Amino acid sequence: MLQDKIKQYTGEINAFQATSAADVENYRLKFLVAKGIIKSLFEEFKTVSIEEKRTLGKELNEFKQLAEAKYSEYQSLFSGTSQEVKREEGDLTLPGTGFQMGSRHPLSLVRKEIVEIFKKLGFIVAEGPEIENDWHNFSALNFPPEHPARDMQDTFFVEKQEGNDIALRTHTSSVQVRLMEMGKPPFRAIMPGRVYRNEAISARAHCFFHQVEGLYVDENVSFADLKQTLFHFVQELYGEGTKVRFRPSYFPFTEPSAEMDISCTICKGAGCQLCKHSGWVEILGCGMVDPNVLNNCGIDSKKYSGFAFGMGIERITNLKYEIRDLRLFSENDVRFLSQFETEIV
Ligand SMILES: [Zn+2]
Repeated sequence: MLQDKIKQYTGEINAFQATSAADVENYRLKFLVAKGIIKSLFEEFKTVSIEEKRTLGKELNEFKQLAEAKYSEYQSLFSGTSQEVKREEGDLTLPGTGFQMGSRHPLSLVRKEIVEIFKKLGFIVAEGPEIENDWHNFSALNFPPEHPARDMQDTFFVEKQEGNDIALRTHTSSVQVRLMEMGKPPFRAIMPGRVYRNEAISARAHCFFHQVEGLYVDENVSFADLKQTLFHFVQELYGEGTKVRFRPSYFPFTEPSAEMDISCTICKGAGCQLCKHSGWVEILGCGMVDPNVLNNCGIDSKKYSGFAFGMGIERITNLKYEIRDLRLFSENDVRFLSQFETEIV
């Protein structure tokens, strides 16, 4: 009987609960498609008597509405979920998102390069504090009391104490003192680090910059060793055939002292703006460790001798990359820094 069937399916639909999109689809296939139950009930409806049609027609229509309402309720519920799933899967045909690498700072690159060259010559890396006392920054290094570097105009003092000022180190030579105080020769070390000077910031000067100093102390160390070491360094850093020359100079902590020039890396000695048409550019200061410094650090200057040298990493970097403004190094402008991305090693 049609009426019984309507009753039975109404019960079935009322009890129906979908837990997945597949359940909803099965429901649709069972009730709503062309060969589904609703269609077949309407077919059967055609065969009943006219009297029955009056009551059954209403029941059948209500049943159809119920079936369709249930379907649309579940369909909206699960179609939302299936769209979300699609979103999570993503569109596999889209081009990939590039992985952006950071880059090393140019000063770090050059510092690393300098350290590597000296490491191959047996130099170790030594480091020390950036806040120093007077002894390590000045006195032990043979700075006379009236030396201008001790003046407020050149040094950032943290604390003024009679005879023992505390200051931001003005050079990494303080690490040389600390190294020599700690042990016995031979010493063969380089000291990379940040140093501070009380200077107005401009394209050519900054209140902080970076140095690499080197120290070699042993028996019978001569100026010839110094020259050969630095000559080798320059060939490694700037390429074979780079010429060097030494000019007499003065530093409190070395005797004799010299400044070293290299043949201009841009014009190869022909003369250009960088070398001010001299063909030479200065890159570092050096000399034989003053016997007073050795004695101050508890090393017998009659038995031992040594050489020391120091260079500004900014200076070396400027020459290598033709950078003309020191301020670029500390402004953290990505347009500047990203130019060194390819240098990652
Ligand atoms: Zn030049």
